[in-house]
Amino acid sequence: MWLRNNSIFKELKYLKISIRLTLTYSVMIAVILLIINLLTLSGLYFVLYHQAEVEIDISTKKTMRQLELGAIMDPSFRKSESLVLMPGVVLRIFDSEGKQVYDSEPNYFKMEWLEEHKVENPPIWANTDVFSVIQSKNMTIYRRDVPMTFNGNSYDMVFFKVVTAENSTLESIKQILLGADLVGIIIALLVGHFVIKGSLKPVRALNDTAKSIQVDDLSRRIEVSPANDELTELANTFNTMLDRLEAGFKAQQKFVSDASHELRTPLTVISGYADMLERWGGKDPEVLSEAISAIKSEAGDMQALIEKLLFLARADQKRQILKKEPADMGEIIEDGFKKISMAASQHEIKLLASEGGIVFADIVTMRQLLRIFLENSMKYTPSGGHIAIAGYIDKEYNNYIVEISDDGVGIAKEDQEKIFQRFYRVDSSRTRAAGTPGGTGLGLSIAKWIADRHDIKISLESELGKGTKFILTMPLYVEENS
Ligand code: ADP
Repeated sequence: MWLRNNSIFKELKYLKISIRLTLTYSVMIAVILLIINLLTLSGLYFVLYHQAEVEIDISTKKTMRQLELGAIMDPSFRKSESLVLMPGVVLRIFDSEGKQVYDSEPNYFKMEWLEEHKVENPPIWANTDVFSVIQSKNMTIYRRDVPMTFNGNSYDMVFFKVVTAENSTLESIKQILLGADLVGIIIALLVGHFVIKGSLKPVRALNDTAKSIQVDDLSRRIEVSPANDELTELANTFNTMLDRLEAGFKAQQKFVSDASHELRTPLTVISGYADMLERWGGKDPEVLSEAISAIKSEAGDMQALIEKLLFLARADQKRQILKKEPADMGEIIEDGFKKISMAASQHEIKLLASEGGIVFADIVTMRQLLRIFLENSMKYTPSGGHIAIAGYIDKEYNNYIVEISDDGVGIAKEDQEKIFQRFYRVDSSRTRAAGTPGGTGLGLSIAKWIADRHDIKISLESELGKGTKFILTMPLYVEENS
């Protein structure tokens, strides 16, 4: 039995949520209705029995009192008008030989009939210590036997009172209540089913939308109802998730198309020179040397671009490993200065300060970060221009500050925010210093990634035609036990 019940519960678990909710809540309503009706009926019976009990009790007490004042009693009891009985209470008195000596209501049921219909197992609300119950098809009667002595003789007083006159009426009440229960349960099932089905509509919409979403079209969204419930929240979360997926997917697509575009230019140049070599290269040493150096330079650019793309791809996949350790920024700056000075034949580069200061950083990427800014300064400062580096401690805020400034082309206000985006380049024909290699628009996005991983804030001051200053603010390393 238990196993069977258990498997019913298991099956319930696999039903649709709407059916499960409807069933659960209908069963609850049914149980509540039944309990209420049972309580109502028991209450009704209790009141009826209790009422009869009280009336018999009062009649008994009053009768006994009158008998104690025996003087007014007729010994034969026949004219005992003074016996005070509550309305509906019947009294019969028998002498010690069982002969009836008094009857308050001769038209009442015969004693034989009453004996015959005595109930062996009275209902729980009957007070069986004192009363016995007589039941016929239509009515229930309470009986109480009270022994007494009068003028030296012993008698038996028997009180009767009808508890429920119309049992059939009570039966009808029971049936009406049961019917009402059934109707209630059916209404609960129907209303519950529709209400729950309606409430779960957003889940179906969510399901349909989720089914219809394709990787190449993430533009569909779920309609969000104005209600402020859990399902609206779910729909909102789902839509926000789609927003993020769509944005990520678009960024991915843009990245691939920008990268392909960037790679196409050097490849076109290389294949152009290869054609040239094929036609004239063998005969003309000048063409040969021009083609070879152009192919070398384009291949170099391509390699640099691919390095950057790989860096960003690793960063996106969280595979770019940083080995952070306490590092002296002064040394990193001096190293960067030395390297850039060797490469810069057409600019004047100055190291204004390289104060020693320990930061917690990955040395390799920190050098890369500095190089990106220095190379940009060179790229965007015409020949003969000036570039300066300064590194110092800001004691007030416990920061290390690095400033890279140039007197190059500068960056317009509207471009200043965008230059950190991937592949973003300010119109290069206008700004690029003549004779410098073309940019890819990836350098500063890599710099931003490195800076973010090191809690470095990048700010810039720039004016078109006057120059640019990048300021990097990084927290100084604080030893844990200091
Ligand atoms: P790129 O490879 O084009 O240099 P970056 O991401 O490093 O790409 O820089 C983005 C853009 O920011 C550049 O195209 C350039 O227009 C501008 N920029 C960066 N640094 C400087 C600078 N020091 N002076 C003027 N413009 C700069």
